[in-house]
Amino acid sequence: MVTLGGFDLESAQPPDPALEAAFATARARMVRDQIEARGIKEARVLSAMARVPRHEFIPASQRALAYEDGPLPIGHGQTISQPYIVAFMTAALDPKPTDRVLEIGTGSGYQAAVLSGLVAKVFTIEIVAPLALRAKADLKRLGYQNVRVRIGDGYLGWPEAAPFDAIIVTCAPDQVPQALVDQLKMGGRMIAPVGPTGGVQELYLLRKHSKGLETQAVLPVRFVPMVKLK
Ligand code: SAH
Repeated sequence: MVTLGGFDLESAQPPDPALEAAFATARARMVRDQIEARGIKEARVLSAMARVPRHEFIPASQRALAYEDGPLPIGHGQTISQPYIVAFMTAALDPKPTDRVLEIGTGSGYQAAVLSGLVAKVFTIEIVAPLALRAKADLKRLGYQNVRVRIGDGYLGWPEAAPFDAIIVTCAPDQVPQALVDQLKMGGRMIAPVGPTGGVQELYLLRKHSKGLETQAVLPVRFVPMVKLK
């Protein structure tokens, strides 16, 4: 049995107000102890993390762990990132209410939901079709109307919707894909984990200038690989 605050999560029929209250309490604690305590100060990011119901993006069997300090499996060998990493990357992107943002690696749809409340429009690409379809359904069910989900290869980006104010890559390529740099606006920001699978990866924050790309390593990380189609 999977329980939280005395509730059996596998048999509970949402929405159960008492269960939702238990999740809300766990979520507030997550924001305080995992995110604020580690130095993330941006009020808009903290409030987005406090609002988005992470447990809705997690398989029922894992839901009791929704607000714990780590990544969780979401099926198909993929994971939803640790809450702190989601907050860190979101803050690093410096999202503005008018921004159009591209995400590579929809996964559960959680990161897209967090961005949804912070920017004008989110475009997100997922290569594993069942994950893309489930995320799309979850985002719709939860009312995130400014997110578009596409099944596709992130290495190609989303040329018809480009250019983007910001791009967030949530799987790790060996190097930053050129198509994504091309689809970034001048002055635009990109955050991406770069490096070999299972090896040392660094989260890079990039800014596109007329003179070239300004690149800054901001955090050592471990992400699933950005899959290359043969
Ligand atoms: N942002 C997600 C977590 C992503 S995990 C969330 O909030 O839940 C990384 C995702 O990237 C996985 O779902 C994986 O299938 C996807 N992925 C890997 N290679 C990809 C590629 N080339 N194009 C698009 N998505 C890719």
